[in-house]
Amino acid sequence: MNPRDAIVQITSTAICGSDLHLYDHYIPTLKSGDILGHEFMGEVVEVGPGNSKLKVGERVVVPFVIACGRCFFCEKQQYSACDNSNPAETAGYVGKALWYPMTGAFGYSHLTGGYAGGQAEYVRVPYSDVGLS
Ligand SMILES: [Zn+2]
Ligand SMILES: [Zn+2]
Repeated sequence: MNPRDAIVQITSTAICGSDLHLYDHYIPTLKSGDILGHEFMGEVVEVGPGNSKLKVGERVVVPFVIACGRCFFCEKQQYSACDNSNPAETAGYVGKALWYPMTGAFGYSHLTGGYAGGQAEYVRVPYSDVGLS
């Protein structure tokens, strides 16, 4: 979708206690059909032309937060406050619901951007040149 994206084929994933907040509606805006999963690892199967760090075939662990690596907060390594990865945040929606800014995150409701999570065969990883190890 974007030049810095990668596609990761999932080899291992987990259900986390934080997922219970979604099931219990403590975190709002989960929609029917949303794919959960914010703790996963796998093999890189495709890399966008804007990512020179990853190579197809590498095994990676993908962090919960999606961070651009270039904004005010990312440059201070405060990735969970990234200004650019959460469309709901940039629309001013998250501040009203959570009372604090929030990065984009995998599989964790539309408050964190509505990104599909890792309980899947494949995941699109935005800004895949940041955070993966
Ligand atoms: Zn978790
Ligand atoms: Zn950022």
